[in-house]
Amino acid sequence: MADTTSVKKIYELRTEIERLQSQKDTLIKELDQTEENLETSQKLYQRYLPLIIDLLTEGRSGFPPVLNELSAAFKKGSSTVKIEYLFFKFHEAMLKEEQAATKTGGPSMLARLLKGPGHHLIEEQKQGYLEIVNALKTTLEISHMETLNALTKRILKTRDLKSMGNVRDDLFGLLLNHIAGLGADRDKIAQFVQEIVKRILGMEELIGQSFSYADEVLQPGEGFDTLLTGEMERLKTDLDVAKTLDELKAQVSGTLLTIEEALKRKVAKERMIKEVAEKNRYVFQTGFARFKKQLDQATQYSRELEQKLNQDPLTGAFNRRAYNKRIQDELDRFLQYGDIFSLLVIDADKFKDVNDTYGHAIGDKCLQEIIKRTATQLKEGDMLARYGGEEFVVVMPETDAHNAKKLAERIRQTIAKIEFIYKNDAVTLTVSIGATQVKEGDAVPQDVFDRADVAVYKAKEGGRNRVVLN
Ligand code: GH3
Ligand code: MG
Ligand code: MG
Repeated sequence: MADTTSVKKIYELRTEIERLQSQKDTLIKELDQTEENLETSQKLYQRYLPLIIDLLTEGRSGFPPVLNELSAAFKKGSSTVKIEYLFFKFHEAMLKEEQAATKTGGPSMLARLLKGPGHHLIEEQKQGYLEIVNALKTTLEISHMETLNALTKRILKTRDLKSMGNVRDDLFGLLLNHIAGLGADRDKIAQFVQEIVKRILGMEELIGQSFSYADEVLQPGEGFDTLLTGEMERLKTDLDVAKTLDELKAQVSGTLLTIEEALKRKVAKERMIKEVAEKNRYVFQTGFARFKKQLDQATQYSRELEQKLNQDPLTGAFNRRAYNKRIQDELDRFLQYGDIFSLLVIDADKFKDVNDTYGHAIGDKCLQEIIKRTATQLKEGDMLARYGGEEFVVVMPETDAHNAKKLAERIRQTIAKIEFIYKNDAVTLTVSIGATQVKEGDAVPQDVFDRADVAVYKAKEGGRNRVVLN
């Protein structure tokens, strides 16, 4: 879901960037054109205006010195501001002189010129002015064409220096307006660019901060999307504020590129994080599987160990340790809840003889066989253990003396049926069993055991291979 949002945003950004880049190209062309126009105009007045001034002042005295300064300024290519200032001074001087001349009735500057070798001067000036106007026609916009055509007509018609002076004033005015206008355009654009650069630097700084923050907190998903949305909105606000400055939009495209790159970086980083997470997950999983296996092995080992601790190695039955624990549990239950149980003590008859006659190994086999046969007679929950030597015990929970005796009898008969064939002899084996039920007054397991043990002794005394209940 976050991926789809990111892809959509990248697409929007690209479209916006394309649009802004084309605007930027247009602006740069415009700026080039303005620069070119300014340069042409500067060349134009640098070339012609000094020419006119020099023609006017050539070999004559009484012209204000500012005129020579103006000529020099044009030739040097001085700044528009300086030229405007000198031109203003010159105009002032002219007005002053003409006013004075009118008052005194004396000859004005123009009148004095008229006295000179006027004719060829007028023709020369006419040629100069026409050249300027023609040059302006190729330079100025079409909107000025009418004025320029009218000027051409007036120049051609001019016969005297006075009307020539008017033409000159108009032409100078037009030129200076144009020059000043071009300068203003350039200044305006330069100002825009300055402002734009300032704002872009500010924005980039902001975005840089935001993204470095985003890098810090980067968690794949929401955080970045929220951030990006915020940046896009801020950018849009900036664009709206700068609605009149198409130029700003073009510059802003650079910033959008920054965002796009940051987005790419972010996507790459997310992918990296995912890969690392994936790898970590794999490492964790395999590690965990290995750990679980070890744990299972350890559990199994401890179970085996526990079993060994409680098992008689020869017969596989429980050992005395297990019996001790079990009989204690049963007695505790009896003492606490009154749950009864019974105990059998089984002792092999004349087992010393078996060993002596057939050997110890056969004796061992007999012990194993006793356990095997006895186990088949037990019910679930009964416990058969080897108490020691050729003596066994059976703990029977929820079993009274009557049922204990019945079971003991079945065990005795089952074992009595065992026949080993050894070197053509049939080896028979019997057991004596003492049975007892837990009783009021039994305080420790030994109390119960001793009673069963007495019963065994009685069975032995009674001729062996029998059960005695006590
Ligand atoms: P009784 O009928 O009076 O019980 O006679 P008994 O011979 O069984 O009694 P006694 O206690 O005198 O002898 C027990 C014999 O059991 C002695 C010993 O050699 C044998 N025995 C004890 N443990 C083992 C064993 O693990 N393996 C073998 N083969 N014999 C054992
Ligand atoms: Mg014995
Ligand atoms: Mg015995």
